[in-house]
Amino acid sequence: MTSLAVWKFASCDGCQLSLLDCEDELLELAGRLDIAYFLEAGLARVEGEYDLSIVEGSITTAEDAERIREVRARSRRVISIGACATAGGIQALRNFADVDDFVSIVYASPQYISTLQDSTAPGDHIAVDFELHGCPPDKGQLLEVISAFLNERKPQIAAHSVCIECKRAGNVCVMVAHGTPCLGPVTHAGCGALCPSYHRGCYGCFGPMETPNTGSLATWMAQHGLPERDVVRLHRTFYATAFDDG
Ligand code: SF4
Ligand code: SF4
Repeated sequence: MTSLAVWKFASCDGCQLSLLDCEDELLELAGRLDIAYFLEAGLARVEGEYDLSIVEGSITTAEDAERIREVRARSRRVISIGACATAGGIQALRNFADVDDFVSIVYASPQYISTLQDSTAPGDHIAVDFELHGCPPDKGQLLEVISAFLNERKPQIAAHSVCIECKRAGNVCVMVAHGTPCLGPVTHAGCGALCPSYHRGCYGCFGPMETPNTGSLATWMAQHGLPERDVVRLHRTFYATAFDDG
């Protein structure tokens, strides 16, 4: 029986909810999977060592940095899921500014706030066995990764861009047809080209694909009239630091 632990760091819990959404499939795996620690699911805390740890959220405090090292020490395998746990998440927007400025504006008593300057991925602190992108990740990809680790094989997650999914769906390209900015050419597949299927540009919520040419896409957007400020903002939405070339 493989023992599974699910850990939360700085996050909105959306990735854990995606995991809960796999309830039926996880029940099918119940004979092979012992969910030992999963607070969001209200399951009992079983302290000790775990075969597989799934981590949601980014590292934003000194306590987080210490805790993620403990998770690594107690886990045979560690998987990071979601934008927060693979690239620091939306909260990594703070990395482009002085966090003390935000703290003084947001909190009435900033002297009680203890935080790190940057929001970083667990992979910046420990060795991670696999990173699954998406905000939140796709349910099918999540199950594929869990199943792969249960069977001691490499997860089969396509490395191509959203454009491939978009073409397969038979969509008219919003960029070519309407000049709508779209991050599909540089974004990791997994959503099924959801936004372009509804005639909207991709917002990059699955993070950069394996070999993104962000410089070329940013140049195209600028040549088609998008102000530089908007080009930068578009690239910094979900994967604030990962698309930094934009
Ligand atoms: S990656 Fe997105 S869905 Fe997951 S915890 Fe972070 S903000 Fe929420
Ligand atoms: S709409 Fe976006 S994702 Fe679809 S083909 Fe065009 S650029 Fe690619």
